[in-house]
Amino acid sequence: MMELLRRKALELGAFRAEVLDVSRVSLDASFRSLCESNACGNYGRNYMCPPDAGGIEELMEEIRSYDCLMVYQTVGELEDSYDFEGMMEAGKRHNELAQKLRAFTRERRKERQDGPESETVCPEEPEGASFLHLGAGGCRVCSVCAKVTGEPCRHPDMAMRSLETYGINVSLLAQEAGMRYINGQNTVTYFGAVFMRGGRPQEPEKERR
Ligand code: SF4
Repeated sequence: MMELLRRKALELGAFRAEVLDVSRVSLDASFRSLCESNACGNYGRNYMCPPDAGGIEELMEEIRSYDCLMVYQTVGELEDSYDFEGMMEAGKRHNELAQKLRAFTRERRKERQDGPESETVCPEEPEGASFLHLGAGGCRVCSVCAKVTGEPCRHPDMAMRSLETYGINVSLLAQEAGMRYINGQNTVTYFGAVFMRGGRPQEPEKERR
């Protein structure tokens, strides 16, 4: 299943995608203090960001309960390093890719439930596997999160937390996956990952790099 997801991420426009064992993910509770400094303006203003997203220790424990992950990155071109609009546009494209990948995972699982004999069912997906999809930054599904307007989340099936919210050191994760954290001047790079519990990782083959 994870190799299938890796290929799907590339097909959908990811720059790089790799499968890793979860033991290669570095977790650091100190990322929570960065969220609390509220440099991005989302702290307390987005259901998928702290403090609403949950306690850092519990979230890190949850990550440790998974077996493997497929990490991917997207790279957007910018006019220059001040191109805020370009960064937002690249973030939007990253989020669209993440949502398509999530829909793909759900479709595959539904196919398995509907008909285990179906030709389209991936034989690598173990029964009872569970998935967690994490994106970049705060949830970007709505232009203004319902947290701000005091309503319940409008799209709980699409809402997505970030890698950083779970205390994941994305820079070290990129190194583990053999990816660059930054991909050159006038570009912006975003990361996402799909975690799976109940499956086995397939390490990347050398020629794919
Ligand atoms: S889906 Fe909308 S309301 Fe729900 S967390 Fe995301 S931005 Fe907020």
